[in-house]
Amino acid sequence: MKVLIAVKRVIDYNVKIRVKADNSGVDEANVKMSMNPFDEIAVEEAIRLKEAGTASELIVVSCGEAPASETIRTGLAMGADRGVLVETDAELQPLAVAKLLKAVAEKEGAEMIVLGKQAIDDDFNQTGQMLAALLGWPQGTFASKLDISEGSASVMREIDGGLETVSLKLPCVVTTDLRLNEPRYASLPNIMKAKKKPIDTTTPDELGVDVTPRLSTLKVSAPAERQAGIIVADVDELVNKLKNEAKVI
Ligand code: AMP
Repeated sequence: MKVLIAVKRVIDYNVKIRVKADNSGVDEANVKMSMNPFDEIAVEEAIRLKEAGTASELIVVSCGEAPASETIRTGLAMGADRGVLVETDAELQPLAVAKLLKAVAEKEGAEMIVLGKQAIDDDFNQTGQMLAALLGWPQGTFASKLDISEGSASVMREIDGGLETVSLKLPCVVTTDLRLNEPRYASLPNIMKAKKKPIDTTTPDELGVDVTPRLSTLKVSAPAERQAGIIVADVDELVNKLKNEAKVI
């Protein structure tokens, strides 16, 4: 079974992001970029499928500007076999990414596609669902456990107030939630080995996909600054302030 894993290059989750002065977006200049954390979980899960003998080949796909190949390389260093970069400078929205992933999946003959449940930059949480719809494949989103046997995938999903288990016929789309696994760190020998693993580059045009954005961003603004706290002398003062100043009790 060939497994495709979608990985997005995003601003590292440790970075305190800055909004551009003209409110047109987030400042990405000189900012550390990393693989979207949910996509690391997707790569880890796919590697476990290969280690268990369920998956035969793991292909890491990223869509975006040329440096997205570094993100692919991270997936290869973790243990995936090869990469596909869909290179474009265009702004990519979920529908466009879903169409690109569909084209790659069909070209590669993938039987399973694993994505993160959401990218931590735009927080769309849409790509996996759109991809499954475009392909007409069943989807198991927010996966916290995945088992494959006899042509079907059992996905335990994190839903409001509990867990739901669904059974999907392969081929299928799975999106990962936080508790699915703990991604491994790439070892130094594997980082060296990954340098020799192949990454094919293609473009939206070659795949016949129109990536024109459907949404336009009107404004991006930073959250309101939190006011500094104060230190009170004793419980009486605290109760007094809660009652008479904050008026919450
Ligand atoms: P989103 O719907 O944007 O929140 O993204 C959900 C998931 O889709 C991510 O966790 C990735 O697995 C995948 N994805 C989104 N954008 C890209 C991209 N540009 N390249 C590759 N995968 C992507």
